[in-house]
Amino acid sequence: PETLLDLLRAQVDARPDSEAVVELGAQRLTYRQLWDRASRVAGGLRASGVRPGDRVAVRYPAGVNWVLAFWGTVMAGAVAVAVNTRSAQPEVEFILSDAGTAVDLAADAPLPDGEPHVHDDAAAGDVAALFYTSGTTGMPKGVPTTHEAFVTNAENMARGLGLPRDIGEDLRTLISVPLFHVTGCNSQLLTAAYLGGTAVIMPSLDLAELISTLSGERISFMVTVPAVYALLLRREDFGGADVSSVRWVGYGGAPIEPALVASLKRAFPDAQVFNGYGMTETASLMTVLPDGDAVEHADSVGYAVPSVRLGVAPIGDDPAVGELVVRGANVTSGYWNRPEADAATIVDGWLHTGDVVRVDEAGRVRIIDRIKDIINRGGENISSIEVETALVGAPGVAEAAVIAVADEVMGEKVGAVIHASGVQVDVDAVLEHCRGQLADFKIPQYVVVSDQPLPRNPGGKLLKGRLRDDVEWGQP
Ligand code: ATP
Ligand code: MG
Repeated sequence: PETLLDLLRAQVDARPDSEAVVELGAQRLTYRQLWDRASRVAGGLRASGVRPGDRVAVRYPAGVNWVLAFWGTVMAGAVAVAVNTRSAQPEVEFILSDAGTAVDLAADAPLPDGEPHVHDDAAAGDVAALFYTSGTTGMPKGVPTTHEAFVTNAENMARGLGLPRDIGEDLRTLISVPLFHVTGCNSQLLTAAYLGGTAVIMPSLDLAELISTLSGERISFMVTVPAVYALLLRREDFGGADVSSVRWVGYGGAPIEPALVASLKRAFPDAQVFNGYGMTETASLMTVLPDGDAVEHADSVGYAVPSVRLGVAPIGDDPAVGELVVRGANVTSGYWNRPEADAATIVDGWLHTGDVVRVDEAGRVRIIDRIKDIINRGGENISSIEVETALVGAPGVAEAAVIAVADEVMGEKVGAVIHASGVQVDVDAVLEHCRGQLADFKIPQYVVVSDQPLPRNPGGKLLKGRLRDDVEWGQP
């Protein structure tokens, strides 16, 4: 397939009566029904004046209506704008105005309906959707995503993970992450469509429902963020759960604790456990750490997927360490209306990821930190992630965020905010634990204990910007 419509049409021809989409507790659609209903959404959009290239905001909760709005917009030749429905109102308004949406399919708006319409002139290089970055390091940026990028990501998923090309109905992917980010939409929903599988959508995350769905819907593929797996594995009702249908267990989006990977392997003994690393700008997947490496190289995100070329732009003396740069058919050629960000991010056709990595001889990528989160203490670079991993291993510490504290002499010093759920935490014992794991200069000099869970976005990413603004460090 060259375009999203080629991809969907192939399945409508091959397996019209197979299940394409299931919304738990609600509707189920076959491929034929999905095509027919989406083409009516497209007709309704066209009747209301939407033209090819216009932007349509997709703001339904995760479920069948979201999927129909997405495919309907694509069938109208328009651009689907995936809006984060969990954002506060000002952020939603920012995205609607930034994208210049002609139509707003908000939760209370009915799905457009009209005569069926399919705009068949899309070229592989046409933009089909705008996804917004998570806004972890600044304001969210719109990423134009072409048909080619979507199709390439689905191919990368299939080849990178070794999903059989003829898996068809045996691919039942549980989508418990948002559809407005690339993992849920591109790597799960659209990969299922590419392979003729079924996307089983959980409208909002509920761990008890997730557990019963694994066997109830014969889920073979699941993906979620490390924080959700940590909660899942701690539950009593997960102990005796039937997970025998599950063949692929993916995690990603944020760093994971190595101990959690080992627990995942034990919890899903028949599945391939893998780490997937990517970003909005790469239409999802860039690297995969396969099952065979998952435990031994738990600190790694693995190898480049087929369409992707990776490079390292050095930032210091060590040529193996630097900012990861990427190019490939799934990588955006620029942001939506952000010429300065384009100039800063895309250099000679290479997209700068903002992630500092080390690549080993085998080609395995290890994320050291985000460039913006690296702490420079008197000329020594310190990975905030490394310090956080040590802190979370200390007794009683449930969460940790490490950020720079401005210092007149050292430039920056290491500050840590820790959260202990339900127990008293002994800061001296925590620091003692860190001394066993980290070089002296990396030991946090400021520690604040928070009685609240740390601020995160829905993807489980720490919102360090908010901590930088809010935390009072007190005395070192
Ligand atoms: P913004 O670009 O707006 O600051 P963001 O980078 O968090 O936000 P996304 O595109 O959703 O927005 O996330 C991509 C980033 O998530 C990557 O650059 C990387 O830092 C992190 N990430 C993704 N997958 C993994 C993974 N498997 N392990 C560790 N970090 C990951
Ligand atoms: Mg980013």
